[in-house]
Amino acid sequence: MQTYNLPDEGGHFGTYGGVFVAETLIAALDELKAAYRAAKDDPEFQAEFMCELKHYVGRPSPIYHARRLSEKLGGAQILLKREDLNHTGAHKVNNCVGQALLARRMKKPRVIAETGAGQHGVATATIAARYGFECVVYMGLEDIRRQTANVYRMKLLGAAVVPVESGSKTLKDAMNEALRDWVTNVSNTFYIIGTVAGPHPYPMLVRDFQTVIGKECLTQMPEAFGRQPDCVIACVGGGSNAMGIFHPYIPHENVRLIGVEAAGEGIASGRHCAPLTANAKPGVLHGNRTRLMQDADGQIVETHSISAGLDYPGVGPEHAWLKDSGRAEYVAITDDEALGAFHGLCRQEGIIPALESAHAVAYAMKIAPTLPKNQLLLINLSGRGDKDMHTVAEASGILL
Ligand SMILES: *Cc1c(COP(=O)(O)O)cnc(C)c1O
Repeated sequence: MQTYNLPDEGGHFGTYGGVFVAETLIAALDELKAAYRAAKDDPEFQAEFMCELKHYVGRPSPIYHARRLSEKLGGAQILLKREDLNHTGAHKVNNCVGQALLARRMKKPRVIAETGAGQHGVATATIAARYGFECVVYMGLEDIRRQTANVYRMKLLGAAVVPVESGSKTLKDAMNEALRDWVTNVSNTFYIIGTVAGPHPYPMLVRDFQTVIGKECLTQMPEAFGRQPDCVIACVGGGSNAMGIFHPYIPHENVRLIGVEAAGEGIASGRHCAPLTANAKPGVLHGNRTRLMQDADGQIVETHSISAGLDYPGVGPEHAWLKDSGRAEYVAITDDEALGAFHGLCRQEGIIPALESAHAVAYAMKIAPTLPKNQLLLINLSGRGDKDMHTVAEASGILL
């Protein structure tokens, strides 16, 4: 077994990761690093985290054998890790619970977050209500217009949603604005980042909180199926649900790890958000060095995916490293393929997946028929599709 202990002290995964922020944030990140190190080694912190995941989130999430879908495909067995059954309907809440406990431990009464589609904003607002924090969510004006239901959800939960009018008025601008707020209010504010991105230690601690997914699989797989899977498949936006299920499997070298990015209208069209599949060059965004969708001048280019949660021009630095090292493979699935898998899972199994998760299902459906029936494909079903009704209806030419 390969030992695995990244990132290093400076937050590096090979040449990726690190800390690229304004001077004023260095002290805050050092404080966070120290607090996280202490919490990680504190059995009381870990016990409370596990207790909250059990009683508030509803963990452990089951692994479900999609028998009808597997039979129809006629090859490998499709197994679904049901993160869609979590409270709030996706994996994001795992990380929010962890960071909220950290905020409380650091005596920060105010939490802030950035959000694109609104999923991380809703998870943060939920957790802020649960722990009694003041909560401010930064969201691009464009996204506020597109995601009215999630904006209302956040407000119901007591959060203030601040419109961001700079740049393209979307996720990356919201993230910049949240970083600015943090610089100004660092003494009483905790910044809850929603994926395995941002400056060190965020990619590490978000991953660690999400590894509850993969750790559960390590015990559930032998119990229910007699052995570990042959393949673990997860969609990759920033990469947190994928890191959560991949990481505990890294030392299991005969388990293939496959990350599925969004090919949008096709890699060749340029309208996608698949930096790893498209072999995008390294660059710096949101405090870390990673592979980024950029033009010849290094400007971030506009990205596209039918699933808002995958629509991010970068990817967590650890994924860039896993790709370069060859330990994980990265592929991409188009909007149309994801929609096909979405409808397939609805009709074959009675499960309406999030469009993000449908990308992982689509890739599994692509390779399953080419593999023997005794092969086990474990797919991280990162969330449920209630939030995607309008998008899916519109794609079918139906106005709800
Ligand atoms: C946000 C989201 C994603 C993408 O985020 P990762 O950090 O890549 O996991 C995937 N699936 C669902 C359901 C989401 O809400």
